[in-house]
Amino acid sequence: INSNAAPVSFQNVTKVYGKDVVAVDTINLDIEAGKLVTLLGPSGCGKTTTLRLIAGLEMATQGKITIGGRDVTQLPATDRDVSMVFQSYALFPHMSVLENVSYGLNFSGFNKSEISDRAAAGLDLVGLRGYGERLPSELSGGQQQRVAVARALVLEPQVLLFDEPLSNLDAKLRRQVREEIREIQQNLGLTVVY
Ligand code: ADP
Ligand code: MG
Repeated sequence: INSNAAPVSFQNVTKVYGKDVVAVDTINLDIEAGKLVTLLGPSGCGKTTTLRLIAGLEMATQGKITIGGRDVTQLPATDRDVSMVFQSYALFPHMSVLENVSYGLNFSGFNKSEISDRAAAGLDLVGLRGYGERLPSELSGGQQQRVAVARALVLEPQVLLFDEPLSNLDAKLRRQVREEIREIQQNLGLTVVY
């Protein structure tokens, strides 16, 4: 998997929900390509909103957002090259692990054999080689979360976002998968906001 990693920049970005819920207040932020940046803060401080602004799932009320130097402030999620891994990893229960990992690739213009090669490489990266034919219900919670990570990784996005992806896992697994994510991020030189 080759890296397409890009820098992200926020210039005076504000997000107001409705009339007066200021979720993000005049943020300036520069994230270098190939780095992992962690957003820390109490519940409700605006972490998820910041990630959703990068993904294009929310639009900034004010300010400018660039990805790879391109102004994406007004671009919808479908026109941005960003993937997000959520807390509820929402695998498709009726699809095999390989089909889950392939899902986003079906819309990206690759042919069938490229798709299955890439999906298999993604499973390798997260330590799940040989699990492709299983259903998600036949995996542990940690393995399911790794499938969600693989599904995002194989898209080789410019930016990969993680919104508390491990909070459903017990403490030991959380540390293990977190270290795996860090290792993959460093090996592939991905831009990650966590
Ligand atoms: P965090 O992820 O750090 O817990 P959020 O970004 O989810 O914080 O929320 C920041 C603030 O915005 C909170 O006050 C929250 O209640 C509010 N908020 C989040 N999403 C919405 C929404 N869709 N509509 C209105 N208010 C929202
Ligand atoms: Mg949140």
